[in-house]
Amino acid sequence: MKNNHNLYEDWLLCDFHIHTTISDGTLPLEDVVNLYGEHGFDVISITDHILDKYTLEERIKKKEPIKAIKKEDFKDYLKILWKESKRAWKKYKMILIPGVEITNDFNKYHIIAIDIKEYVDPTLPVEEIVKRLKGQNAVVIAAHPDKKKTDKKHDSWYLWKNQERFRELFDAWEVANRDDLFNSIGLKKYNYIANSDFHEKRHLYSWKTLIKSERNVEAVKEAIRNNMHIAIYLMREN
Ligand code: ZN
Ligand code: ZN
Ligand code: ZN
Repeated sequence: MKNNHNLYEDWLLCDFHIHTTISDGTLPLEDVVNLYGEHGFDVISITDHILDKYTLEERIKKKEPIKAIKKEDFKDYLKILWKESKRAWKKYKMILIPGVEITNDFNKYHIIAIDIKEYVDPTLPVEEIVKRLKGQNAVVIAAHPDKKKTDKKHDSWYLWKNQERFRELFDAWEVANRDDLFNSIGLKKYNYIANSDFHEKRHLYSWKTLIKSERNVEAVKEAIRNNMHIAIYLMREN
């Protein structure tokens, strides 16, 4: 049935950083799930944006589209994801783990939470966000800590600036995001992971994570935390 990646028979093909039209992605949730399912993925996490209050106020003031999940809609967001998770399993034997990208564009830190249950305010300091996420047994990932070809204060500039201080705080760091490979993070020093930061269809072809673990949510979470039997993989078209 699944023959797209026989080479990696023992490995689960994973992507833990994916956006849909619920925030700023261009494909609706169902289409995203079908796309990943049809490409033989084993584990995905949908991680639409929630926003800090300053950026949110700014967007409202400028009459810009919000492109993020509102706090009052967060419970519904999780419900929709759990429902879609059941469909993904039934149709593709693919695990969908509800997640979120905690997006602080005011102070410049983006944090991925996998298996989130309760809303956490992106306006809070990094340490407090991580504490609250770990309290929910979520896996916490530093998103794109070093973006190339951007100005000094890229989206996760604050995490990059404080990488030594935050090193142990996160369960893993994105050493690769979409087409970028962050050499400077140091593959040896940090727990690592690679994700697509999917916003549109062409982003499917990008860095991914392979994990050798049992096919269930807790086993996958443990593998990320222990950073054992993990590999990064650049998925190309054909
Ligand atoms: Zn985005
Ligand atoms: Zn981001
Ligand atoms: Zn993202």
